[in-house]
Amino acid sequence: MRAQNHRGHQSHGFLTYDKGEFYIHRSLDLIPKIKSSAIQEWFGRLPGRIGIANVRYTTSGKIDEKSLMKGTQPVTASKNGLKIAISFNGNIVNTFQLKKEIRKEFPCFSYECDADLICHKLLIEFAKTKDLTSAVKKCMEEIEGAFSVVGITKNGEFFAFKDPKGIRPLCAGHGQDGKIFAFSSETVGLDINGFERNFEVEPGEIVMVSKNGFERKKLMNEKHKAFCAFEFAYFARPDSRFNEKYVYEIREEFGRNLVKENQDVVKEADIILSLPETGDDSAMGAHEESGLRWERASRRHRYVTERAFILLNKERYATIDKKINILASKVKGKRIIITEDSVVRGDTTKVVIEKLRRMGAKKVHLFVTFPRIIGPCFYGIDMATYGQLIGSKHTPEEIAKIIGADSVRYQSIENFVKATGLSREQLCLACVTGEYPTPLAQKIADEMKKRFLEGYEETGRLYEIEEAFQQT
Ligand code: SF4
Repeated sequence: MRAQNHRGHQSHGFLTYDKGEFYIHRSLDLIPKIKSSAIQEWFGRLPGRIGIANVRYTTSGKIDEKSLMKGTQPVTASKNGLKIAISFNGNIVNTFQLKKEIRKEFPCFSYECDADLICHKLLIEFAKTKDLTSAVKKCMEEIEGAFSVVGITKNGEFFAFKDPKGIRPLCAGHGQDGKIFAFSSETVGLDINGFERNFEVEPGEIVMVSKNGFERKKLMNEKHKAFCAFEFAYFARPDSRFNEKYVYEIREEFGRNLVKENQDVVKEADIILSLPETGDDSAMGAHEESGLRWERASRRHRYVTERAFILLNKERYATIDKKINILASKVKGKRIIITEDSVVRGDTTKVVIEKLRRMGAKKVHLFVTFPRIIGPCFYGIDMATYGQLIGSKHTPEEIAKIIGADSVRYQSIENFVKATGLSREQLCLACVTGEYPTPLAQKIADEMKKRFLEGYEETGRLYEIEEAFQQT
């Protein structure tokens, strides 16, 4: 789980199963360091041979400390002797419809996070047929959004499944002795434990685990898939693999593409500088393609571990300033190309460019690997409204002015897609194209955009505002 901590730092939780009972530990912040002297005590607290766990950053629900604690996963649901526990990665779009449906069966249902919705919906369907596979299929058909799920039933059935579009990653692997089986959002979670990766769970697939290994069953087979393109640019760890390619190799290709696409800037530049660490791999690619020196003059504070993107606004500015140090003598008088993974709000880059200017940089051009973000995400990345996205209302030229750069160059969507090794029909690119892979998300995005252009104040995701949602 520590290898997955980059996917969520606000809370974490573990749940194990032993003889029909679930044992749970949940807490806020990063996964703790467990001293070897405390291992036995942890095993005592979390007995059993099956377990699931989660790290979370909120893309649904409230974010005060009490709510964060309540929304910590794994979550459980129980009724009439049936019980299910799940841990999930993603975000649900048709939350109101599901809440209504769930409250018919569970009048006191209290929604803390989207995992509660999936868990209760799954239990309702499971109670009808007592067949887990058909219950999962019903969830796939009736829940709209991104959901990569691992779970355990009261009978000790250990399972995993993914939404029909396959928006978030989830892979399966086994230990060296072939007796331990595991799922992980990213391959690095398996690698770090010495596990071998067997396969990526397919969109619309359920995987059951027994002593004999994995049993896979495809429940839905949609023509167009929608794996999140942002995983390649920012979210996933560089040492994870998707589609048999390491993420860092793909990011290097992004850097090469940006050089090929922007020869006018490259010809007049002296050095390449990366925004550590998600810009490092594209800087390497840009350096190889252009022959320009990759000057390692921006250094990251090793112990300031928060990822700027997933911080709250007020925390972000101070953290970036503490986190990235620039070596003045290396940038003074230089014409610089900075490589950056993405521009969401623009404030990370703005802080760094201000620093560079103060230190005497002559020119600062920004190369961005992820194409311009023009719309919100409803599938598990915290880009909720049009208003918070600098790219939704400004051209690259205007963005350059706002953040203080001489120019901002985004990688083209076409080259981005090519570098991932996937086709356009296999990727979600909704936040850069405005074409959402699921119908309600499209409807909500269109309505939000209309309101945004009419000057309505955006207070959050439209689907989290009940009255507004009823009208869509
Ligand atoms: S909208 Fe963007 S961030 Fe969200 S899943 Fe699609 S590609 Fe990823």
